[in-house]
Amino acid sequence: MMQFTLNKTVVHIGKAAPELAAWKSGAGTYEDKEDAFFVADLSDIVNKFRIWKCLLPRVQPFYAVKCNDDPCVLGLLAQLGTGFDCASKGEIQRILDMKVSPNRIIYANPCKQKSYIKYAAKHGVSMMTFDNEIELYKIKATFPNSKLVIRIMPPDDSKSQCQLGMKFGCDPNDAGHLLRIAKELDLNVIGVSFHVGSGCYDATAFSEAVASAHSVFQVAEELGFNFDLLDIGGGFPGQWSDKITFKEICDELTPALDRYFPEGSGVRVIAEPGRYFVASAFTLAVNIIAKRAVPRDNPGGYAVVVDGISRDEEPHYMYYVNDGVYGSFNCLLFDHAEIEPNLLETPEPGVPTYSSSIWGPTCDGLDCIKKQCLLPELNTGEWLVFRNMGAYTMCAASAFNGMPKPHCYHTIHESCWMLLMKLAKSDASDLKLLPVNMKTGHNVPQTEHDSIVLDCDCLRT
Ligand SMILES: *Cc1c(COP(=O)(O)O)cnc(C)c1O
Repeated sequence: MMQFTLNKTVVHIGKAAPELAAWKSGAGTYEDKEDAFFVADLSDIVNKFRIWKCLLPRVQPFYAVKCNDDPCVLGLLAQLGTGFDCASKGEIQRILDMKVSPNRIIYANPCKQKSYIKYAAKHGVSMMTFDNEIELYKIKATFPNSKLVIRIMPPDDSKSQCQLGMKFGCDPNDAGHLLRIAKELDLNVIGVSFHVGSGCYDATAFSEAVASAHSVFQVAEELGFNFDLLDIGGGFPGQWSDKITFKEICDELTPALDRYFPEGSGVRVIAEPGRYFVASAFTLAVNIIAKRAVPRDNPGGYAVVVDGISRDEEPHYMYYVNDGVYGSFNCLLFDHAEIEPNLLETPEPGVPTYSSSIWGPTCDGLDCIKKQCLLPELNTGEWLVFRNMGAYTMCAASAFNGMPKPHCYHTIHESCWMLLMKLAKSDASDLKLLPVNMKTGHNVPQTEHDSIVLDCDCLRT
């Protein structure tokens, strides 16, 4: 198998994700063989990057590291030329270690530990956000020359999977007060940021927040600031099955940007997408380690062996798998994720299905992945596969009950790998990119792909 290394991690070239899953399940030592594992398809991330460049060409993405700090994800995005949104010293360190320039980093945590601010100062990471008065005094004492970005609360973050307004962002009406203090302290505030909430499913949240940011630009101008940065945050959808598409958001967002911050206004626009880049690239395979059968009409009732269920009772199968809500499925608790189990191989048509539930490996009753679903009867040793597991999963997993975090295998489509090799040698701006299908994110097959330049028309297949 062809492979190369990216940020010190092996990437398999030319293996499709499900293929690699099947390959892994038949390889390795016995224990390793049944461990849960991730497969990351880096081509998916390359395609997301292309779609971004096409639909939001004016907006520079700064990937939110906290969403998934897998070394290959970081290495790939660094190679593609994105910036990074870091929330801590540790994250800043990870990015600087890849030799990414400090001006490609925004320290976008409005509430920072003092020693972390000093670390940022020492390494030239000067862009950072704030949303309160005390933070300004702290920054004055630790990094007076930083380039500050005021984070405002968006007008409405109720239409998103995870709301952030209760924790971060000043009321835009209080922005004048904070900016006056910044002026008195002789601090350099360069622009405005917001976050409409993670997993936003209403595009108007973006356009309304852009309008609100514009009003803060005007207040700043009256106070003698010369703002030139707008940071539209994260919140973009990351999987093709989401309630809203990235394109629908761009169709609403772009006119707002053109109206309030037209090209030529001298305002640089950046964003902090997290789940957008990684959600659909990662697939998790878990192994069925145990199984119980209970009478269907009394699930959770007394467990009996399958043969012990009387003939007129249909069984409900409880499957115990080796990753759960204390591990990668913490997204069910923290990220309000919705997940669906799939089988490694599509079952034959007409195979009977049974009422089933899926449970994690810890000894906690809360550790349930799926309370109710229909599955063919499965046996221990078989695999269940969960797609769209790249965002806010492995990064927040614990080792509760001594359960290890799953290993991640990385794969990339050959054409994407060739692009990366070129990118390593040349400037991103003259790179010719492959077209990609906007509905599925898959590459449109091409033989002479080198000659096709990325543009919106070729994406609209
Ligand atoms: C978490 C976070 C992001 C990323 O949000 P997504 O919804 O995953 O795009 C961006 N910016 C900030 C400040 C964040 O806290």
